[in-house]
Amino acid sequence: MSLYRDTGVVLRVHKLGEADRIITLLTRRHGKVRAVAKGVRRTTSRFGARLEPFGHVDVQLYTGRTLDVITQVETVDAFALPIVGDYQRYTAASAIAETADRLTAEEGEPVLKLYLLVVGALRALADGHRDASLVLDAFLLRSMAFAGWSPAITECARCGRRGPHAAFNIPAGGSLCQDCRVPGSVHPAPEALVLLHALLHGDWDTAEASAPTIRRDVSGLVAAHLQWHLERQLRSLPFVERRAREAPIADTLGSDTNSGETEVSSAAQGTRSRDSAHGATGA
Ligand SMILES: [Zn+2]
Repeated sequence: MSLYRDTGVVLRVHKLGEADRIITLLTRRHGKVRAVAKGVRRTTSRFGARLEPFGHVDVQLYTGRTLDVITQVETVDAFALPIVGDYQRYTAASAIAETADRLTAEEGEPVLKLYLLVVGALRALADGHRDASLVLDAFLLRSMAFAGWSPAITECARCGRRGPHAAFNIPAGGSLCQDCRVPGSVHPAPEALVLLHALLHGDWDTAEASAPTIRRDVSGLVAAHLQWHLERQLRSLPFVERRAREAPIADTLGSDTNSGETEVSSAAQGTRSRDSAHGATGA
């Protein structure tokens, strides 16, 4: 039995038997870790409350045969308290946790950058100084950049020509110039491209000056872009089947889209309805 410590964010919590829980943590040094917390569902549990979703905790674990076991927990940041009491922040935090979970296929593989993005986004939601939707979209764009799926915003996705360009096509990778554009592209307002760029690069002054309609359009594009890549990733990797048994992808990604054309139309719908678009990210 070997002991180790790490700092992590609680992404998910599952019941296990009568009194235990399986905690999915995104940790600073060990990547995603699924570990058992014994006895935490008893009211006398010392650390059960610290292992709720969105908690930022310092944990001690020992290596088990199948799952590691959590033996100590200290709270680093009590993000959960201010988040769970506010519906908008809660849905944004839920989408952040689920996206982080889906982007980390290999347990135990270090993903420091993603861990820092999750902690930063949850801290911003807990502070409440920024609009929760902007925090979520900034996180989604940056986590897609982490995964290598960043949409082309200021250049053409196909030939690299500097833009801004009018056409935007998710299966093609984002903005498309006159020569490269394909049927089924959408045409977001120029301000939407400005907001996408600002969110990706952390330019909050520009982001917070954006109009509500532009924010809705951008949320739809971001959600559709993420959904398209997650579905392709989930279909193409061997862990898909394991995950599909745990939680059908359709439950949370809510899509029957198969072709590029359909995806573009779902992106266009997303720009009209923020709720449906973010529902699609699994909020
Ligand atoms: Zn081009």
